[in-house]
Amino acid sequence: MKFLIAAPLLLGFLTACTGQENLTRGEWSPYSSATADLEKVSQNLKPYQFSTSQRVYLGTETSTLKNQTIYNIPVLNTWIKENKSNQGLHFLSYQIYAYEDLPELPSSFFKNTESYAMSLESIRKLTPQGDKLLDHAPAFMAYKGSLAPVWVINYLKDGIHLRQKIVHAKGFHVLSDEPMGSSFQKSLMRLQATVYPEGPKRSGLEQVQLSNLQSGPFISSRKLRIHSASGKDVPIQNEPLNFDPEDEKFPQVQVYYTLQKANSWFEQNLGWTWAGILEVQTQMGYPENINSAFYYRNRIRLGQGDGVRFKNIPLDPSIVIHESVHAVVDRLTGLPFQGEGGSINEALADFITACQLNTPLMGEVAIPHEENRRSLTPLRKWSDLNGGLYNDSLVISSFLWSLRETLGEEKVLQSLVRTLRDTTPGDNFKSFSEKFIHTTLMELNSEERALFFKTLKQAHWPTDL
Ligand SMILES: [Zn+2]
Repeated sequence: MKFLIAAPLLLGFLTACTGQENLTRGEWSPYSSATADLEKVSQNLKPYQFSTSQRVYLGTETSTLKNQTIYNIPVLNTWIKENKSNQGLHFLSYQIYAYEDLPELPSSFFKNTESYAMSLESIRKLTPQGDKLLDHAPAFMAYKGSLAPVWVINYLKDGIHLRQKIVHAKGFHVLSDEPMGSSFQKSLMRLQATVYPEGPKRSGLEQVQLSNLQSGPFISSRKLRIHSASGKDVPIQNEPLNFDPEDEKFPQVQVYYTLQKANSWFEQNLGWTWAGILEVQTQMGYPENINSAFYYRNRIRLGQGDGVRFKNIPLDPSIVIHESVHAVVDRLTGLPFQGEGGSINEALADFITACQLNTPLMGEVAIPHEENRRSLTPLRKWSDLNGGLYNDSLVISSFLWSLRETLGEEKVLQSLVRTLRDTTPGDNFKSFSEKFIHTTLMELNSEERALFFKTLKQAHWPTDL
C-alpha cells in the first residue's frame, strides 16, 4: 500500500442490528484485506432475493445497486451494492431484512382483486382535496420487530410539493409522511432552435441544433421528455423551434438544450448518466408561478418563479443541471434527500453543476437577490456543520470546489466517481469523508497529497491520518 494510514478506515465486514428496524447491515471495503470474509458474506446473502440490477459500467469496473425484494415486492430501506472488476468482487455493502420465515403476502397486493380495489379506495380517502396522487405501490417495511405490508404513496401536496406517505396495508394508519425529492423506434431528428446557450446571464439568443429528437406531440428523445403543466407542449414536426423568450414554449426548448448538453457532459466526465428517460415538467403549478424545482425518481418539475424571489427557473442552467445531477447520482448511490445523506446528495448536485458551468455560483439567473444564492466559495469548515440541509451541503461542496482549485477538475472528479462507486444510501458525513479521503489518497502522487492535506487542514476536516 502506497499511502499511510494509522488504522483501517472501515473494519472489513461488520454486522449491526439497527434496533427497532431489525435490519441487518454490513460493509466490506477494498481497504481491508479480508477477501475470504467477502466470499462468505456473499454466500450468506444467497437465500435472499434482490431487485433486478441497475448496473453502471465505469471503465473495467461494474457497480450494481439493488434493493431486497420478497415475492418481487421491494423491502423499504434495504440495499445491496456490489462492485466488481476483472479480479472479482471487491466491494460489498448491504442492509437487508434477515427473515427466517417468509411473511404473508396480503391479497390486496394482487391487482384485479376486490381487496386491491378496496385498498385503492382507502388510499383515495386518505388524500385530502387539493393533493394530487401520483402513484402508489406495495412494499414491505421493517416495523415493530416484524415485516409489515405497506403502501408507498407519492403525491403532490397542494398540487406542488412532492411528498411520500407510507401507510400500513392492513390498518391504513400512516407510518410516515415526508417531503421527497430535492427542492430546487422512430427516426431521430435534428432541428434548429433558438436558445440562450449558456443561459440568459452569460449569453445572448443564438441558433443551435437540437439533436436526437423524436417526432411527436411534445419534445422527446431517448433520454428526455419535456412537458408543460399548462398543457401547451412543443410539438416536434419538421419545423425549427424558434420561439420568443416570452412565449411559454420557449422554456421547454431551453430546458431540452440544457439537458442535452448536460447528458453528454455526464457521459464524458463521469462515465455514466441518468438511467432511462428523465421526465421534465415546466410550469409546475400552472396557472400559478411557483417558486419550486425538484427531482424525484427520474422526474424533474420546474415552477416558473413568482418574479420576486425566483424568476425564469427553467432558463437557469444551474437549477436545471442541479436537478439532473440528482438523477445521475441516484442511479449509482441511492443517497437519500434528507439528513446527512441528503446534504451529501445536495453537495454533489451543486459541485458537479459548478464544474459543468465553471462557476461556484448557483441560481444566477433565477434568483434576483444575490444574498439568497448559494455559492461554493468561500470554503466552509467542518465545524460549520449544524444539521441544516443546504448549510451542511455547502461544507462538503465548498471543500470539493476548493480542492478543484488546487488539484484540478479532472483529479477531483476522478476521486469523486470512485468514491460514489462505494457510496450507499446509508452513508453519513463521517463515512463519506473517510471514503473520499481514502480514495483520493490512492489517486495522488506525493506532491498532490501535500496539497490535498493542506486543503483538508484549511477546512478542518477530521482525519485519522
Ligand atoms: Zn437538490
